Amino acid sequence: MISDEIAKIKSEIPHYVKLIAVSKTKPNEMIQQAYNGGHLIFGENRPLELKQKHEELPRDIEWHFIGHPQSKQVKYFSEFVSLIHGVDSIKLMQVINKEGIKHNRKIPCLLQFHIAQETTKFGLVYSEAQQILESKEFSELKNIEIAGVMGMATYTDNNNQIASEFRLLRSIYEQLKQTYFTNNEYFKELSMGMSDDYNIAIDEGSTMIRVGSKIFGYRNYNQ
Ligand SMILES: *Cc1c(COP(=O)(O)O)cnc(C)c1O
Repeated sequence: MISDEIAKIKSEIPHYVKLIAVSKTKPNEMIQQAYNGGHLIFGENRPLELKQKHEELPRDIEWHFIGHPQSKQVKYFSEFVSLIHGVDSIKLMQVINKEGIKHNRKIPCLLQFHIAQETTKFGLVYSEAQQILESKEFSELKNIEIAGVMGMATYTDNNNQIASEFRLLRSIYEQLKQTYFTNNEYFKELSMGMSDDYNIAIDEGSTMIRVGSKIFGYRNYNQ
């Protein structure tokens, strides 16, 4: 069933959109099922859980950290993570950079922007991103790679609102690309869209969708 759902989603989205199967809180058996069906890209948002799953599951899985890691927890996944989606401060970037140096790699990150109306969601506004990208501190970070932007829309059934928030994220992406990453081949990802809104996100230019409950069923956070 898990593989069927993944296959169905993949068949309905454009080929250039990457599907990240969000497996947070779900057991290894479910991830293994998806893997056996040919899906190799998974997202987690708890550092220790990610570390453990990476150790227990097949080595060729591409792991994404989709949340907002605490500084002291970056070390749990910095050696193997493919992309960190939720970066929104220079302090966190410095921690990730240090980990990159330790493991002799450049760690790809997305800048998370605040596009929703809810005040609880993390993220930068444009002027804060400008400040970071123009800072001396940022210019010294050689072991992180800014690969694009990420954002989450408001939880609402108002599709127009969701679309306009994704449109905002896309315009932020375009503006950053033009201003700071013109000839940078790595800055190309627009991570937006979850189970309930990924179709809208794709219409607005998403290149990566993060889909959890639609694939694995509802989550029980108390487990
Ligand atoms: C949990 C989570 C998702 C997946 O959410 P679903 O609604 O279950 O698809 C996507 N992105 C982030 C950042 C998440 O924390």
